[in-house]
Amino acid sequence: MKLNGTSSNTPSNGRALDGNHQNGHSLNGHQHDELVDEIGDAHGATSIDTPMRPDAFAMDDDFKIDLIEEHFREIMNILGLDLTDDSLKGSPRRVAKMYVKEVFSGLNPANKPKPTLFENKFRYNEMLVEKDITVQTYCEHHFVPILGKAHVAYISSGKVIGLSKLNRIVEYFCKRPQVQERLTVQIADELKRVLETDDVAVIIDAKHLCVSTRGVHDVNSSTITSSYSGKFAEEATRQELLRYVSQPGVTI
Ligand SMILES: [Zn+2]
Repeated sequence: MKLNGTSSNTPSNGRALDGNHQNGHSLNGHQHDELVDEIGDAHGATSIDTPMRPDAFAMDDDFKIDLIEEHFREIMNILGLDLTDDSLKGSPRRVAKMYVKEVFSGLNPANKPKPTLFENKFRYNEMLVEKDITVQTYCEHHFVPILGKAHVAYISSGKVIGLSKLNRIVEYFCKRPQVQERLTVQIADELKRVLETDDVAVIIDAKHLCVSTRGVHDVNSSTITSSYSGKFAEEATRQELLRYVSQPGVTI
């Protein structure tokens, strides 16, 4: 768990926004900026768990929305935008609600899907693949979208799960500031836990808007991450999955 000293607890304290002060390092502003850019461009994650403060849910959602609204208004103000303009004046609250209630609602474990498990009455012991699940998440380094697809697969250990719950689990972990590698592992770990099996695979293919709309401005590249456990670590099983995933999707 990482807590950056007093800065996290005193968002209204201007000094808390100063990088040198926050990290306790003796970097000058320029060096600090370079370090921050490097971490962002490397797209590395520091842990599998989303780094959260211990008091993450001490405030209720309504209070968080009020605070984020206030701070986002300040960001717009600093940028020089006229908050009395009819088009802009609702934006701080709109962004605050979007963060808390929509795009980052998966930070709160209370919103985690609680899937019902069923007995595998059909004795279907082959792999089940749910492919082309929509991935819409946010890069935690730049706070812009990562958009793509997830393919998840499992082999039943005796339990099965409703198909839509596979989508819901992907969606839940997407609704956080994310790093694609961490997202992949979080989904895989949750599927293993819920389905009580290690025979789980997750593949994500996604475009990072922080790569396409800024920085190197590469609009064509996408990033593929995967997690293969249990039987999916075996070559034949993995190849079978990859065959299914590479088939064109059904159109109805
Ligand atoms: Zn990014």
